[in-house]
Amino acid sequence: MNVIRQLSFSALSRMACQRLSPESARDLLNNVDNFMFDCDGVLWSGPKLIPGSLETIVKLKKIGKKIFYVTNNSSSSRRMYVEKCNKLGFPATEDDIVCTSYTAALYLKSINFKGKIYLVGNPAIAEELDKFGFQYIGLGPDRASDGASNYFNPALLDTQLDPEVNCVLVGFDIHLSYYKMMKAATYARRKDCIFIATNEDSHLPCDGDIVIPGTGSIVAACKIPARREPIIVGKPSTYGFTPLQKLHNLDPSRTLMVGDQCSTDIAFGRKCGLRTLLVFTGVLSMSDLEQLKQSTDQQTHEMLPEFCTSSLVDLMDLSKKS
Ligand SMILES: [Mg+2]
Repeated sequence: MNVIRQLSFSALSRMACQRLSPESARDLLNNVDNFMFDCDGVLWSGPKLIPGSLETIVKLKKIGKKIFYVTNNSSSSRRMYVEKCNKLGFPATEDDIVCTSYTAALYLKSINFKGKIYLVGNPAIAEELDKFGFQYIGLGPDRASDGASNYFNPALLDTQLDPEVNCVLVGFDIHLSYYKMMKAATYARRKDCIFIATNEDSHLPCDGDIVIPGTGSIVAACKIPARREPIIVGKPSTYGFTPLQKLHNLDPSRTLMVGDQCSTDIAFGRKCGLRTLLVFTGVLSMSDLEQLKQSTDQQTHEMLPEFCTSSLVDLMDLSKKS
C-alpha cells in the first residue's frame, strides 16, 4: 500500500513542478488575470530589488493584469507597504496589499471580537488594530522588564495582569522579553481567550552568516509555555485570500501565486485553488525542491508548485521564445 502511495505521489510530483517553458509561460500570461506575489525573495531581497522583478511587474500591469502583494511580514501595515512598493517603483494601493498585520485585524473582525488584546507585536500591527477600532495593550518594551534584575518576580507579574484581556495576538516583536512571554502565556491559558499569531516563519531572510529569528521563533516562545496552538492568519492559512477575492471578484483558476517558499506561498496558493509558480531567488533552490519531490509524505506533496523557474524575469523572457 505504501509503495502504491509513494508511486502515486511521485507520479503527481512529475506532473507538478514543471520547469517553466516558453509554452507554459505563454499559457500563464494568456490564462491568468491576477498575479499574487510574495515579496521578500521574489520581488526584493531585504532592501535590494531582485533583478528583473520590477520590469516584470510593470509589464504585467501594462498588459492589463491585476497585481497583488501577499506577505507574511507583520512589521509593516498596508500603508507602510504601499510606501515601500511605490518607493521601489512597484504600482500598489492599500487594496492590493495583504500583510499579516492586516489579516490579524481582519480575522478578529470576522469573528466579531469584543474585548481587549494583549499584543506581542509592533507599531504596524497596532496601526491596523487602530483602523478597526480594537483595544490592545502590550506594545513596546514591557515595564516589568525595565532594569530587571537577574531574578524574575512572579508577584510583580500578577499585579500587572489585566482582567479584561481575552485575546493574545503574537507577531514580530523586537521587544520580546521573558515578562512578555509570561504574560502572553498566562493570558492565553485563560478560559475563552482567543490566541492568534501572524505567521510561523522561522527565520527572516539574510544574505550573510547572521541568523535572524523570524516571527515563528517569537510565536514558539509564547505557545510553548501557553501549551496551546494559536490560529495562524498568515500563509499558508487562507485568511488572506478571502478579502482580496471579495474586493476584486477574483477567479481562483485565473489567479497565479508566485512565491519562493513551498511551505507558505505555494501551500497557500494550492489551498486557495490558485495556480502556482515557485522561483529560486529566495529561500529554496532547485535541489531543495528535488528533495521535497522525493518525500513520501502527502502533506509535502500538497505544497509542490505547478511550475518552477530560476527567477520571475523568466515569465516574460520565456514567453517570447519559440
Ligand atoms: Mg518570501
